[in-house]
Amino acid sequence: MMPSDTHKIVIHADKTPAGEHVRRLNVPTIDEVAIVIVRDQFQPRDIVLHRRNDQLTTFAETHRCLQYPIIFWDGADGYHFNVKMIDPVSGKETNMKCSARNYYSYRLMIQENEDNHILKCRQLVHQYIVDMYAKIKKACLIFIRLNQTKLHSEEYVHLRDPVVNDANTTNIGRLTILPSSYTGSPRHMHECAQDAIAYVHHYGRPELFITVTCNPAWDDIQQLLLPGQSPVDRHDITARVFRQKQKSLMDFMVKHEVFGSVHCWMYSVEWQKRGLPHAHILIWLYNKITSNKIDNVICPEIPNADVDKDLHEVVMKNMIHVPCGTLNPNSPCMIDGKCSKRYPRALVSNTVTGNNGYPLYRRRSAEDGGKLATIQMRNGDIEVDNNQWVVTYSPLLSKTYRAHINVEYCNSIKSIKYICKYVNKGSDMAVFGVQPERSDRNAVIHIDEIAQYQAGRYISSNETVWPIL
Ligand SMILES: [Zn+2]
Repeated sequence: MMPSDTHKIVIHADKTPAGEHVRRLNVPTIDEVAIVIVRDQFQPRDIVLHRRNDQLTTFAETHRCLQYPIIFWDGADGYHFNVKMIDPVSGKETNMKCSARNYYSYRLMIQENEDNHILKCRQLVHQYIVDMYAKIKKACLIFIRLNQTKLHSEEYVHLRDPVVNDANTTNIGRLTILPSSYTGSPRHMHECAQDAIAYVHHYGRPELFITVTCNPAWDDIQQLLLPGQSPVDRHDITARVFRQKQKSLMDFMVKHEVFGSVHCWMYSVEWQKRGLPHAHILIWLYNKITSNKIDNVICPEIPNADVDKDLHEVVMKNMIHVPCGTLNPNSPCMIDGKCSKRYPRALVSNTVTGNNGYPLYRRRSAEDGGKLATIQMRNGDIEVDNNQWVVTYSPLLSKTYRAHINVEYCNSIKSIKYICKYVNKGSDMAVFGVQPERSDRNAVIHIDEIAQYQAGRYISSNETVWPIL
């Protein structure tokens, strides 16, 4: 493109293909560096060099140097197929080849007693990460493509189970399978959703549906930032700290049984174009939480600051739905003039669980002993009957983990089906300006699951750090 060119790539939020989960295709809500993979991504991503004499020279993308001259100003080599693993004890080169993933994971590590300047490159390193991630994944997918006979892909035709395709299976020609062993693939997500349904068959409904979001204000993240950096500059830190917190949270519930013995559990980690990871967790308990105990586990009220100052602070910082509606019509939650998250919620003096859907938790009004509080808004402070705006939380989890942790109690089959599907909906996608392909109903259809999986995949820079590390 010429510098004067003003073309834009537009991500369409209103063009969700039939049968797709809306949340997979929503528009990014923050500014971030991301990669959107188009269908022909299997074509080599050659590097074209514009020489000073106006000649263009093409290099293969696997070429060891030439990329990112600002990061590697001294001409340091990038990854190439002959990089060897180093023995960690002797420090000597071994005969084993180093994979692209190993190599980039090493490059992104915080090195002891050594300055890793890559981690100081801010947005440029975001671009570097997504680019290298695409390279790693492409190598993986090419391997799968070239080893289709080992996957017995012809057997899949007899099983007549193309997962992602609504095509008429009698007309299937060549079939390229993306197996369920590939994390995040449609077959993998389908398998997880089947597991969730099997758990429901055996153990009944899950008791708790928990969403935990990475909190960039965590001390563990703040302490590792270099001078002048903000958490956005260090996806490596946010990803790793979140992973540790999330493991610890699972142990807290499953091994330490803070809500009682756990039958089984399931979670998925996702990014959903919000820049930071969050996990959706389903917990099945041996002993169901009885309706008179729910108020001890789940609460949507502002705690009394005189009784528990710490909890009050965590809730005010993390668990308040920013007032929307007439108070703030431009809030991102507003769809067709209504809050998509159903705020402000009705004030009720006692928890009601019989409702077909989510229970109505106790939210006491000011007359009933609830609190009026001030919420800071861009256009000034407002005083609201605050219990209407609190996201349901667990006092125990919020105080321990100091992040946005939404806890819901599941009590209807309707919500369980939705949640099981929601937890396993698959990777983020974006619909953008590519011409749709026309298909002739009677023509022989070549199903290429790998290409289907890749088309329109949206991977944010924060998300790419996770699998690399
Ligand atoms: Zn809202």
